[in-house]
Amino acid sequence: MQQHNKFILGSGISALIFKYFNPSYKIISPDEKPGGQLTKHNNLLTTFYIHNTLETRELLNNLKIKYKEKRLKIYYYYYGKILENITNEQRINFIKNKLSEWNYDSNSYKINNMNLSVSNNFLDILDCNIEEVIKKLTPKDIIYGSIKLINNNRKFFVYQDKNKNLITHYYDMIISSIPANLFFNLTYNYKCPYYLNYLPSTFISSQIKPEFIKDEDSIYYILDDNLPFSRVQRFGINTYIYEATGLLTDEEIKKYIKNFTSVERRYVGIIKDEDILNFKYIKFIGRNALWNSSIKIQDVIKYAKYFKNE
Ligand SMILES: Cc1cc2nc3c(=O)[nH]c(=O)nc-3n(C[C@H](O)[C@H](O)[C@H](O)COP(=O)(O)OP(=O)(O)OC[C@H]3O[C@@H](n4cnc5c(N)ncnc54)[C@H](O)[C@@H]3O)c2cc1C
Repeated sequence: MQQHNKFILGSGISALIFKYFNPSYKIISPDEKPGGQLTKHNNLLTTFYIHNTLETRELLNNLKIKYKEKRLKIYYYYYGKILENITNEQRINFIKNKLSEWNYDSNSYKINNMNLSVSNNFLDILDCNIEEVIKKLTPKDIIYGSIKLINNNRKFFVYQDKNKNLITHYYDMIISSIPANLFFNLTYNYKCPYYLNYLPSTFISSQIKPEFIKDEDSIYYILDDNLPFSRVQRFGINTYIYEATGLLTDEEIKKYIKNFTSVERRYVGIIKDEDILNFKYIKFIGRNALWNSSIKIQDVIKYAKYFKNE
């Protein structure tokens, strides 16, 4: 048996948080720089917030990260009008639109989860430098490796190191932050019962301010099927980020935003939630590993803090 037998797979924010509270675990990750999606996709930081909760405040205080408590208002653009609140029916329609590609008629689509929309008309956040959070959480001893196989019955995994060598390691416990759609392809002796579907999304940035934005520090959800977007908000000084479900071509975008500055297309944009169950010796952490869009940083902290390896 090798020395380290408790592992965290991945080095995204969820893995780093787990490691912070459970230092006896070793991280294995193929990331050149830790931070997972938040490091790879700089654009994700345009819509990513650390919510203001007891757990997140405590973590930032312990890491000695400066933050400002901020309340972002949420408005709804409803067929030309700006609303502060919407009815349940309107919320269901919004989620139907968000869960279907922008040019798809979603009115016959059935939804069974309301996680894609908040019920408050504000969001309390901790405004801070996420890159600094990642840096402070990053441990020195990360093993470089990409997991290629996991045998959950005989409790070993195979990873590929920097020199393309395949290394077999036995484990007592694994905490996986690998996105579930990738993870379950690795467990060759386990028949995966999940669908793990997702939809692509497009993020467009433009310096042109939409004329309905009055409050620059707010988030605007769009309930108008004449528009392809589901959300618009300001980022930085004078950039506006538009989010749409589905993949829009540059020509399609131009019909709605004449002068856009950049486009990011993500093929895993919106996940269709599932109830992923932990294994006895493999536990999952984070939104993508649990395939659940309601998971936020505070949930990861809660799990990491109270985790007991019995
Ligand atoms: C548009 C958008 C907005 C969001 N907004 C928020 C928000 O406001 N607040 C919030 O809390 N969350 C938000 N999220 C969710 C957010 O992305 C996550 O909370 C967080 O970035 C996910 O981090 P993670 O560590 O769980 O996963 P990831 O960052 O995806 O990390 C997965 C890790 O697994 C590793 N990995 C993959 N394959 C292998 C392999 N074979 N072997 C080993 N390692 C592997 C990767 O390299 C990576 O290190 C948002 C997500 C999106 C897409």
